[in-house]
Amino acid sequence: MTDLHPTDDWARAQDAADPLRDFRAQFHIPRHDGAEMAYFCGNSLGLQPKGARAYVDEVMDKWARDAVEGHFLEPAPWMPYHELVRDGIAQVVGAQPSEVVAMNSLTANLHLMMVSFFRPDAQRNVILMEAGAFPSDRHAMASQLHAHGLSVDAHLVEVEPDREDGTFSMAAIERAIAEHRDRLALVLWPGVQYRTGQAFDLKEIARLGHAAGAIVGFDLAHAVGNLPLQLHDSGADFAVWCHYKYMNSGPGAVAGCFVHERHAHTDRPRFAGWWGHDQATRFRMGPEFVPTPGADGWQLSNPPILGLAPLRASLDLFTQAGMPALRAKSERLTGHLEALIRAHLGDVLQIVTPASPAERGCQLSLRVAGGRGMTGRSAGRALFECLGARGVLGDWREPDVIRISPAPLYNTHADVLRFVRTVQEWQA
Ligand SMILES: *Cc1c(COP(=O)(O)O)cnc(C)c1O
Repeated sequence: MTDLHPTDDWARAQDAADPLRDFRAQFHIPRHDGAEMAYFCGNSLGLQPKGARAYVDEVMDKWARDAVEGHFLEPAPWMPYHELVRDGIAQVVGAQPSEVVAMNSLTANLHLMMVSFFRPDAQRNVILMEAGAFPSDRHAMASQLHAHGLSVDAHLVEVEPDREDGTFSMAAIERAIAEHRDRLALVLWPGVQYRTGQAFDLKEIARLGHAAGAIVGFDLAHAVGNLPLQLHDSGADFAVWCHYKYMNSGPGAVAGCFVHERHAHTDRPRFAGWWGHDQATRFRMGPEFVPTPGADGWQLSNPPILGLAPLRASLDLFTQAGMPALRAKSERLTGHLEALIRAHLGDVLQIVTPASPAERGCQLSLRVAGGRGMTGRSAGRALFECLGARGVLGDWREPDVIRISPAPLYNTHADVLRFVRTVQEWQA
């Protein structure tokens, strides 16, 4: 990379040439000792868009002024409020608008999807997932098996990473699917693995799962707002994600759910609620459930309007910037971070995340090889704490990983340089 010089001038020039540079000013950047932090935790909790407060205030004001009439009065009546975010979400995940809905939380949506899409029978009753999955996903799979009277030992296949750095080759996924193909009911896979930062070819995984006769679902918690997705074209049966990570919609924000168009009129079982009932007849208050076609049919309750409001501010920014431009910047930022680490910090930091941009998003997962006379976990903790004390905020994942995620909406090359300098100072 010939344009890579770890100087302030270099970082300033990179940032000045960045077509998305003005988006940073749309966010509240947290401060440390009076100065802006280098915030690399967008993979955990994205920063607050400045526009979020106005949308929240609008709801508070309407509630104060109009009370129950707020359901119907313009602007932004609450009755169809979730439709205000539908098109933006569909654009970010590459779906048709009728295939997505904002509702509940990620894990709740995963359970709702499992009720409809994990239907074990005598022949097909195995769930295939990654070993080392995010605990909530593993708990969801194990408890779903339990609810069907099936044991985890016999019915949950957890595929082990086959590469030395703890990542997967596609061949390993293909082999696992082939090995269990006659018993597979469901393949659940992440879009981006939370600990390693590895990104997967969703279309290929869906193709392999379907060829084996299984349903294929994705957990996109670390992929949405990070990578350009083509969920409809991927062919996945369903997907779930949250909006508080790269989507910057606030702690515990209302989550997202995708159900492929081919299931829009399904008669599969589902756990139903009145908000999933056909909209034309919902308020006749009849006893029989008639589902709304598409993803909307899985809604249970009228949505938490205050929880949805910040998502509108987030989607304003995502639709202005566009995922292709965000991805182009993200590849540069993360690519430069990687190159600087390799050139200047090779004896301190080992990069766990795959080197190929096609196999990663924003995040680099770093293992601390050593420094200051320490190795392994203690060196990792010491460096992590030193970074935090100097306003460089990544996050720590047990047992020994520091995650650094430059988010293209608000991070800069100056942030990346500051990270590299701070590690150099710690090492010295
Ligand atoms: C962040 C994350 C979750 C969190 O689940 P919630 O229901 O939003 O608390 C679950 N799974 C994965 C893979 C995650 O990255």
